[in-house]
Amino acid sequence: MSHNAAPDLGPATALTCRECGQSYDLGPRYACELCFGPLEVSYDHTGVTRERIESGPRNIWRYRGLLPVPSNVVDSPNTEPGFTRLVRADNLSESLGLRSLWVKDDSGNPTHSFKDRVVAVALAAARELGFKVLACPSTGNLANAVAAAAARAGIRSAVFVPSDLERQKIITTAVYGGTFVTVDGNYDDVNRLASELAGEQEDWAFVNVNVRPYYAEGSKTIGYEIAEQLGWRLPEQIVIPIASGSQLTKIDKAFQEFIKLGLVEDRPYKIFGAQATGCSPVSAAFKAGHDVVQPVKPSTIAKSLAIGNPADGPYVLDAVRRTGGAVEDVSDEEVVDSIGLLARTEGIFGETAGGVTLGVLRKLLSAGVLDPDAETVFINSGDGLKTLDAVAPVAQPSANIAPTLEAFRKAGLA
Ligand SMILES: *Cc1c(COP(=O)(O)O)cnc(C)c1O
Ligand SMILES: [Zn+2]
Repeated sequence: MSHNAAPDLGPATALTCRECGQSYDLGPRYACELCFGPLEVSYDHTGVTRERIESGPRNIWRYRGLLPVPSNVVDSPNTEPGFTRLVRADNLSESLGLRSLWVKDDSGNPTHSFKDRVVAVALAAARELGFKVLACPSTGNLANAVAAAAARAGIRSAVFVPSDLERQKIITTAVYGGTFVTVDGNYDDVNRLASELAGEQEDWAFVNVNVRPYYAEGSKTIGYEIAEQLGWRLPEQIVIPIASGSQLTKIDKAFQEFIKLGLVEDRPYKIFGAQATGCSPVSAAFKAGHDVVQPVKPSTIAKSLAIGNPADGPYVLDAVRRTGGAVEDVSDEEVVDSIGLLARTEGIFGETAGGVTLGVLRKLLSAGVLDPDAETVFINSGDGLKTLDAVAPVAQPSANIAPTLEAFRKAGLA
């Protein structure tokens, strides 16, 4: 295939190995040739100001001066995700005994999860690098986002998911057309297959495999938005779900970039990571004081977070420990309970990942690890309509009655 030798990826200047620091030209590579470490995008961020950002579109492209995308990215069809609402959660904070709590509600993205952010950036970079097909292994939400973005860009998609995925996520992927393969195995099996395929299908951009350095940068946009929406200020505490750990490490990177560029005041913040107990390798490593993450076999209703071998696990541990935060996990029962609490107090129906994140926030608050007086943000990364089965048993009508006044009175609901 013919990859673009001199791509225009805006402010991006190089790819740098996270482990040994070796630098590479921008291109379709993702692992260091010397040490196999993951590659990270480096930048020249001159000319980024609050005013420039505020005058941009109300989507992630307002931050294009901080992302590895072509300077004319706004002209190419994409899903234009982002600038989701930051909701002040006064009812919820009162019921939990917190002074100031916000929900970053990423269910408002085009395919109803945070994944539209990373896919939009991956698509923009992949097109510029000369790839022809947008592909991925997925736990569900990524499949939705890739299929939709490819449809809108007018290119082919090829997505691979475990066959036991939620019915909602199967349908909401298939509807966009494209090549869609269910695989008899868990996510880690699907991921391995995708890595093998990426070696053969040279013009396929597997967003989270061979263009992962670009893809991952899309997660920074949640961090930027939180800071901008708080009035150009960082929260004191933030609770973030962990699947591969990319989102958590990139929100930290976003906060660091904003501090370095003088866009926000440099004040300390603590990062907390959230997992479901049925897939909690990072939480286990954190509690054991380990630097390496021991892979597990996932078993939880929080399927969007069910990555047993998280690629960014060690970097999550670094960020959490450096900022004085923690990683915790909650049971599936606590996940369901927290989905209900968020819905009843704030009118927000989160997916299981949102239940995991709020559940962990509650657990850390009870344990005295979270400070109830510090300004806190947590992320609801997906829409509850995607994981209906998780709450179906506990979300039922109050009564079923005949269409008469008498029947209503008898039901005792007046
Ligand atoms: C993918 C995903 C995450 C986080 O994923 P990372 O791999 O840790 O970046 C969080 N919530 C939902 C709903 C997701 O789909
Ligand atoms: Zn290296």
